[in-house]
Amino acid sequence: MKFDLHSHTFYSDGMLSPADLLARAVERKVDVLAITDHDTLLGLAPARAAIAAAGLPIRLVDGVEISTSWYEFEIHIVGLAIDPHNDGLQQRLASQQERRLERAREMARRLTKHNVPDCYDAVLALANGGAVTRTHFARHLMEIGKATSMAGVFKHYLARGKAGYVPNNWVSLAEAVQWIHDAGGIAVLAHPLRYNLNGKWLTKLMREFAAAGGDAAEVASCQLTPVQKRDVWALCQQFGLVASQGSDFHQATDWSDLGRGLYLTDDIRTVWQQFPALFPQPEPQPEPLPEAQSELAAETEQAESSDKPALCS
Ligand code: AMP
Ligand code: MN
Ligand code: MN
Ligand code: MN
Repeated sequence: MKFDLHSHTFYSDGMLSPADLLARAVERKVDVLAITDHDTLLGLAPARAAIAAAGLPIRLVDGVEISTSWYEFEIHIVGLAIDPHNDGLQQRLASQQERRLERAREMARRLTKHNVPDCYDAVLALANGGAVTRTHFARHLMEIGKATSMAGVFKHYLARGKAGYVPNNWVSLAEAVQWIHDAGGIAVLAHPLRYNLNGKWLTKLMREFAAAGGDAAEVASCQLTPVQKRDVWALCQQFGLVASQGSDFHQATDWSDLGRGLYLTDDIRTVWQQFPALFPQPEPQPEPLPEAQSELAAETEQAESSDKPALCS
C-alpha cells in the first residue's frame, strides 16, 4: 500500500484539478491520497466525484493544511480524515480565508513601493476562487518578469523580512489542532524540516505541538535523506507522536512527484497503523487467473526495479 498524505489542487496553490491530481496519483501507483489544500476544503467534493465518475482505484483521505503562527514562524498543520461537512471547521477555515485576503491586499500594497504595479486583482484572478497564497504572488511576479524562478521570487520578494512579506496573523498551533480534532481528524505537523529551525527550536516545536494535542509529524517527504527521517522520527518518539508521510505535491518537478520518496522503515509507527479506522482500506481485488498471475508478477517486478528513484536530494 502506497500512502501519500499531503497534496494540493488548484483550489489552493497546486496546478492540477482534483480529477487530474487523482489520475496522476493512480498513474504513480498511489493507493491512498490525502488532498490537503491551504485552509480550504473546496477540492474534496470534486475529488470524490472524480473517483466515482471514473471508477478510479484509489482512496481519498479528506484533508486540509492549516497555517498557524508560532513565535515569528508560520507552521503548517495538516488535518487528516476530517469531516468535510463539519460546520465549525468550515466556518473557521472561512476566517482563515478572510485573513488570506487581507494579507494579499497588504502584500500588494507593499509591493507597489517596490516597482510592482498594484497586483491584487491579478493575483486573485490567478487564485481563481481558491485560497490566495504567496505562490500566486510568486507566479504573478514571474509573469511580469520580476524573477525567473520560484526560489528566486520567494528569496527576493516573499520570504520573511522581504518587501512583499506581511507578518502573519494566523491561528495558534493549539487552535488548529482543536479545529481538526473537533472535525474528527488527526493533526499532523507538516514538513518539520522546512521551517529553517535550529535543533533547539525544532525540539521546542515538536514538544509544544505534542503538548497542544498534536498526533503525528511528517517523517517522509520527497527530499528528506534517511538520516533526516531518523532524526525527525527520534523527536516523534521523544514526544509521543506517530509518523505521517506526504509529497506536498503542487506540480511535478525534477525533485518531487506524487508518491515519490515516501519510504519509512518498518520500525516506524504510522498514522494508518495508529488510527486504522480513519484510513480507508483498499477494495479487495478479484483473484487473477493462474496464467495472468505470473505475467502480473513479472510486470510488478519490472515496475519496481525501474521505479526506484535515485535518492531524493
Ligand atoms: P502561504 O500559505 O500563502 O504563505 O504560501 C505558502 C506556500 O508558498 C507554501 O505552501 C509553498 O507552496 C510556497 N512556498 C513557500 N516558500 C517557497 C519557496 N521558497 N519556493 C517555492 N515555493 C514556496
Ligand atoms: Mn503550498
Ligand atoms: Mn506547507
Ligand atoms: Mn502543503
